[in-house]
Amino acid sequence: MFVDSHAHIDGPEFDGDRAEMLLRARDAGVTAILNVGTGDPHSGVFARAVEFGAHHDDVYTAIGVHPHDARFYDYSVDEQIRKLFLSGPRLLAWGEIGLDFHYDNSPREVQVSVFRKQLHSARELGLPVIIHTREAERETVEILRDEWLDSNLPGIMHCFSGSAWLAEQCLDLGFSISFSGIVTFKKADDLRSIALNVPLDRLLVETDCPYLTPVPHRGKRNEPAYVVEVAACLAGLRGMPLDEMGSLTSSNFFRIFNLETHA
Ligand SMILES: [Zn+2]
Ligand SMILES: [Zn+2]
Repeated sequence: MFVDSHAHIDGPEFDGDRAEMLLRARDAGVTAILNVGTGDPHSGVFARAVEFGAHHDDVYTAIGVHPHDARFYDYSVDEQIRKLFLSGPRLLAWGEIGLDFHYDNSPREVQVSVFRKQLHSARELGLPVIIHTREAERETVEILRDEWLDSNLPGIMHCFSGSAWLAEQCLDLGFSISFSGIVTFKKADDLRSIALNVPLDRLLVETDCPYLTPVPHRGKRNEPAYVVEVAACLAGLRGMPLDEMGSLTSSNFFRIFNLETHA
């Protein structure tokens, strides 16, 4: 049993084979998927994600303004997201939110203020957050310490690809750490040694599909069934059976979000 704790499956990349993709996930033992709605918030992407989740019992939903799209954020977007959280079933978290100073698709100061605003709103609603950070470790940690540390709400650092320092800070903040296909890449020895040191009760796996396809499927579109490869990599590092890693990371997911375990 596996949970894909972060995927983007309501978009056009899966329009051709969405039902088959979900079947392949089920066949691979993936019992739940957290679908994360992202994109220009004025283009209906969040409503699309919520609507998609409402029609699939094993799909959970998160929505939030990605740092790439921070430039589109305004007061109406906050209103829109708050309303959507009341409108559908299985909406679990505000995210993905954070900072991406690698692509700089939105000006950094805008990313920072939109990140802070969304953390505020998530706290007000009592929602966990899903964090994206790239080449902005210091700034991300500083903001989380300011805005989130005393919230007593859960958080996930998704698609972890940062330093050992960042991993330590995340654990300190009470966050769980989710690994993607990056951990299977040939050159990811540093990341694998970080993964080995994350306490087992803080470990999650994800695909972040359609991106970041894990070994041995490189070159193909990524999809939730391949989360098994990520879990296999982590299991191999620890000398643990694959099914044990699957059920451990799954029960972490269900515990974080206070969900009944899917047997
Ligand atoms: Zn991300
Ligand atoms: Zn993502």
